[in-house]
Amino acid sequence: MVEGNCRYRENTLIARGKGAFDETGSLSVPVYRSATYTHNSLEHDENAFYYARCATPTRRALEKQVAALEHGYDALAVTSGLAAMDVVLRLFSPGDRIIVSGDLYGGSYRLFDQVYSRYGLVFDFVDTWELDKVKEAIRPETKGIYIETPSNPMLRVSDIKALSDIAREAGAYMMVDNTFLSPLFQKPIELGADIVVHSATKYLAGHHDVLAGVIVTANKELWDKLSFYVMSVGNPLSPDDSWLVLRGIETLSVRLLRQQENAIILADYLKSLPQIEKVIYPGDKDHPDYDLIKRQQKGFGSMISFVVKDADKAPDFFAKFEIIYPAGSLGGVQSLISLPNLSLQCPIPASLREHVGVTDGLFRLSVGIEDVEDLKEDLAKALS
Ligand code: PLP
Repeated sequence: MVEGNCRYRENTLIARGKGAFDETGSLSVPVYRSATYTHNSLEHDENAFYYARCATPTRRALEKQVAALEHGYDALAVTSGLAAMDVVLRLFSPGDRIIVSGDLYGGSYRLFDQVYSRYGLVFDFVDTWELDKVKEAIRPETKGIYIETPSNPMLRVSDIKALSDIAREAGAYMMVDNTFLSPLFQKPIELGADIVVHSATKYLAGHHDVLAGVIVTANKELWDKLSFYVMSVGNPLSPDDSWLVLRGIETLSVRLLRQQENAIILADYLKSLPQIEKVIYPGDKDHPDYDLIKRQQKGFGSMISFVVKDADKAPDFFAKFEIIYPAGSLGGVQSLISLPNLSLQCPIPASLREHVGVTDGLFRLSVGIEDVEDLKEDLAKALS
């Protein structure tokens, strides 16, 4: 475990942040912009700062805070969620196979399929919410299982503990993208995962004002390896952006609880609208993975997907939102809506999108903290 203020209960740990750690007592972590640090000794000291590509005090404060929240060993903050995945993929060698959720963010699919497959990694896209399918897909070359849970955009939930057991038996790393829930609602390392990644752009930062990624490892060996890649490749998060994410995390619990409160009301409300064919929300008892959700998650989150009856009208509906911003991204205090099949998910082959249920009539709604009555009115108006 990282040192620090882990002795506090979670909401206190979140609210107190990582300030007051230097001689000034500053409550806000200072932004150290220095690119380099002076030394009189050539002896290497692992707690000292040398060069900003290796470590900076502001970034270390963020890394320690996310590691503490995830109950991990330590963390690394990089320039985006995809950069975090890129760093993790450097653990693998040509010929290694990685099992990946069949439903996942289109940009992640593109990284696997159009970048890393060129370097000899092989990806097996599997419905990871069905354990038998994962077991069947394991081969001697399988060196990793990579899941999003809940997945983007169909919100399918995979069993982290069971998959971690399968991975361990196969000698593979268990990797979880925890972007949709954040450590407030899910702690994959406690369930056996080796690595957690975040698009910190989303819930961790929470205000649609910074692009960032975080990797958390369960142990020192993995952190040392991944830290070497961040330092060698050169994609660490800047001090200013690290500060923005740190500042965002201070309100993580109030934001997420309020967003979830709105999402529960909206998921119910959407069901009552005649234009809607289907609503997918992890807090809904009809969700196909509801039993697992209750067991594995500490919250349902605030992502809702829904399908309209008349898919041809979806672009017209999309154009009519006024309060809910039609925009990519998710997790911030302002609600955002997107049409995944016509935008974010395009890098994924149509057959795989169809297999998991991504269709032209599917909307993905990231619920914010606005007045829920305004959000209801906006939905009713746009979908009319
Ligand atoms: N993981 C998930 C689940 C995402 O939704 C996204 C982006 O939407 C990413 C990773 C990539 O994150 P970033 O945009 O910060 O690179």
